Amino acid sequence: MDRVYNFSPGPSQLALPVLEKAQKDLLAYGSTGMSVMEMSHRSKMYTDIYDQTVADLKDLMAVPEDYEVVFLQGGATQQFSAIPLNLMVNGKADYIDSGNFAHLAAEEAKRYGEVHVVASSREDTYTYVPDVKAISFTEGADYLHITQNNTIYGTRYVELPESDAPLVCDASSMILSEEMDVKKYGVIYAGAQKNIGPSGLCVLIVRKDLLGRTMEICPKLLNWEVQVKAGSMYNTPNTWGIYIAGLTFQWLKEQGGVKAMEKINIEKAALLYDFLDNSRLFKPTAQPKYRSRMNVTFVTGDPDKDAAFVKAAAGAGLVNLKGHRTVGGMRASIYNAMPIEGVQKLVAFMKQFEMENA
Ligand SMILES: *Cc1c(COP(=O)(O)O)cnc(C)c1O
Repeated sequence: MDRVYNFSPGPSQLALPVLEKAQKDLLAYGSTGMSVMEMSHRSKMYTDIYDQTVADLKDLMAVPEDYEVVFLQGGATQQFSAIPLNLMVNGKADYIDSGNFAHLAAEEAKRYGEVHVVASSREDTYTYVPDVKAISFTEGADYLHITQNNTIYGTRYVELPESDAPLVCDASSMILSEEMDVKKYGVIYAGAQKNIGPSGLCVLIVRKDLLGRTMEICPKLLNWEVQVKAGSMYNTPNTWGIYIAGLTFQWLKEQGGVKAMEKINIEKAALLYDFLDNSRLFKPTAQPKYRSRMNVTFVTGDPDKDAAFVKAAAGAGLVNLKGHRTVGGMRASIYNAMPIEGVQKLVAFMKQFEMENA
């Protein structure tokens, strides 16, 4: 069996020990005689898995006592609706538009109230994150929404905005890749398929005092308070997805936790950017100050050469390097599960390609 280095933005490569453990337990988990997929979500064997998974995430992120953790369905996008439905008590919110997903989140919230886009880099094709110090926020806003890492454009916040409203953060493509001071946020949410596990699953970390602000029209399944009270089990949760997330959390702990991952991630990103900054063929597209450590975007400037590169790389076992369909070029997504060897192989391959094509 040959595994490739998968640079996909999501669903993304998972850590090999996670897949191996899941494979080993696929037919019979422990002494239960059944697969995790076949267990009742209310059984002791499953709730043990669930409780451990929540505890491990809390531990990894040092989640304070006054926060709840739940696992929801519908990915991160479902939360674009759930956020206003759960928080817009005064009917208005601030959004920073730093990328495609940030934009979609703001557009969706408009269905439920007044959306103030207080800063945007949209006119500059999102090559940077707006300067958070220069923003004037809306008085009485129910929350401020940000997307901390912009998956498509390869940018990240280098400092958090400080407004009076609770900070709501889409952390889909950066959760667990660097330390986050949870108490600076009101809500952190993340689709699982980038740094955690299978798609369709969404992690939500919410400060307790923000529960119970839900709009009357909020569907019960999207009501955070209902899900918190039900321990993520108002309906049947994505049991398998939560189990895989739990395996990833255990693997992260074995690697030394988030701090250790952050160190490796900085190293991995530096390898790529250092090469790109000195390349005669490839050019990084994000402004240096705001470069993402998770999604590295670059171009040759010639779409034919871009396509040739993506194809040749795939032939060498370095797959899914094509940029998002809206921006073109290339993107190497190097989440936690991408080992540094994968990045070294990529850089070596790019050097070779440059020699032959520059
Ligand atoms: C991938 C991604 C999403 C969308 O996630 P889904 O699970 O497909 O809904 C939203 N926000 C960010 C920042 C992402 O990277």
